[in-house]
Amino acid sequence: MADKVHPKVVPLVDQRSAALAPPFRAFDPAYRVAPAGTIADSLHRPLRDLRISVTDRCNFRCSYCMPKEVFHKDYPYLPHADLLNFEEITRIARQFVAHGVQKIRLTGGEPLLRKNIEVLIEQLAGLRTVQGQPLDLTLTTNGSLLARKAHTLKAAGLQRVTVSLDGLDDAVFRRMNDVDFPVHEVLQGIEAAKQAGLGPIKVNMVVKRGTNDHELIPMARHFKGSGVVLRFIEYMDVGATNGWRLNEVLPSREVIARLQQELPLIPLEASMPGETAQRWGYADADGRHDAHAGEIGVISSVTQAFCGDCNRARLSTEGQLYLCLFASQGYDLRSLVRGNGPADATDADLASAIGHIWQGRTDRYSELRSAQDPMADVSTGRRVEMSYIGG
Ligand code: SAM
Ligand code: SF4
Ligand code: SF4
Repeated sequence: MADKVHPKVVPLVDQRSAALAPPFRAFDPAYRVAPAGTIADSLHRPLRDLRISVTDRCNFRCSYCMPKEVFHKDYPYLPHADLLNFEEITRIARQFVAHGVQKIRLTGGEPLLRKNIEVLIEQLAGLRTVQGQPLDLTLTTNGSLLARKAHTLKAAGLQRVTVSLDGLDDAVFRRMNDVDFPVHEVLQGIEAAKQAGLGPIKVNMVVKRGTNDHELIPMARHFKGSGVVLRFIEYMDVGATNGWRLNEVLPSREVIARLQQELPLIPLEASMPGETAQRWGYADADGRHDAHAGEIGVISSVTQAFCGDCNRARLSTEGQLYLCLFASQGYDLRSLVRGNGPADATDADLASAIGHIWQGRTDRYSELRSAQDPMADVSTGRRVEMSYIGG
C-alpha cells in the first residue's frame, strides 16, 4: 500500500529553458499565416483546445506528479519575472482563439495558487470564438482552495471546474497527496463549486494499481447520481521524475470490468471530437442509460492512444508552446510578447508564429508507443514535467 517507494525516481533534468525559437519564416510577409478561424496540423488535426499552466508551484506532492524527493523545499521554481503576466497570457490566448481555439483550461501546478487568478479569468472570459461565442473556460484544481474561491471564480467568468481526487479513503488520499491533506476538504470544495454553479463538475481520479484501485467502487458509488462526472485516468509516464512502473497502470478496460461487476454500465457516444475520455453511462434495469444516475469516463492515455484527433496545445508557465504532453521541448512565445525576440513582434507576427508551429505539428507519442507495445516501459526519456505544462 505504501505510496512512498520510488524505485525509479530520477533527478529532474531541467528542460524548462531549452526552448525552440518560432520558425523564422513566420515573420516573413511572404509566408505569413494569418488566422482564418481554423488551422490544421500536418496530420489534419485542428487546433481547438488550449491548456495554460499559470504556475509551476503546488501545495500537494502527489507521488505521480511532483514527488517530494525531487520537488523538495529547495526546488528552484521559476522566478516570478519569468512567468507570463496576465496581459501576456491573454494576448497570446487571443491569437489562439483567432486560429480556432474554443476551449481554454487553466492548470498548473495548482492554478488556484496563482495570485489574483480571477483577474486573468475575467480577461479570458472577455474573449470570443470566431463564431462570436464565449469560450468554454475551465480550470483543473486539486480542490484544496476551492471552497474559499468558488464564488469569486464564478463571478469572474469561469464556467466550470475539474477537481482531482484519488480516493475517499482518507489515509490513502493523505498518502497520495503526500502533504496529509484530508479528503473532506476537497469534498467541501466540490460542493462549493456546485453551489457556485461551476458545473457540470468533473472529478479526475488517477488510478495506481496497488495504491488506490480499491477505491474505484466507493468513488463510483459516491458520485453516482450526484451530477458529477467521475473520470478514471490511467497512471501515465509523464515527465521524468515520477518513477513510473508499468505494473502500476490499471488499464481502463480493467477499470470498466471491475465496475461492471457491481454497477452495470453501457458505452455512450463521444460528446465532441477530440474528447479525451471514453464515456460510459449507468444502466437501468432494462439496460438503457439512466440519465439520473449519470455517467463516468475513462482516460486511457497509456493503453489506447487518442492522438488521431488530439487538438490540444499547451502553453507553459513561462510562455513556451508545447504540442504534446510528452514533448521534450516547447517553442518560445514569451520573447514575442516581451519584445526581445524578432523586433517589434505584432499580433500578426504572434498569430503567424502560432500558425506555423501548429501547421508543422507531427506529434503522436501515445500512438507510436501503442504501435510497439501499449504497456512498454519507456519512462527513461527526457520529457517535460506535467506540473510545468499542466495536465
Ligand atoms: N494541480 C491541479 C490538479 O491536480 O488538478 C492541476 C494540475 S495536474 C498536473 C492536472 C491533472 O493531471 C490532474 O488531474 C492530475 O491528477 C493529473 N496527473 C498528474 N500526473 C499524472 C500522471 N502521472 N498520470 C496521470 N495523470 C496525472
Ligand atoms: Fe499538484 Fe496537481 Fe501535480 Fe498533484 S497532480 S502534485 S495537485 S499539480
Ligand atoms: Fe496528444 Fe501527445 Fe497525448 Fe497524443 S500523446 S494525445 S499527441 S498530447
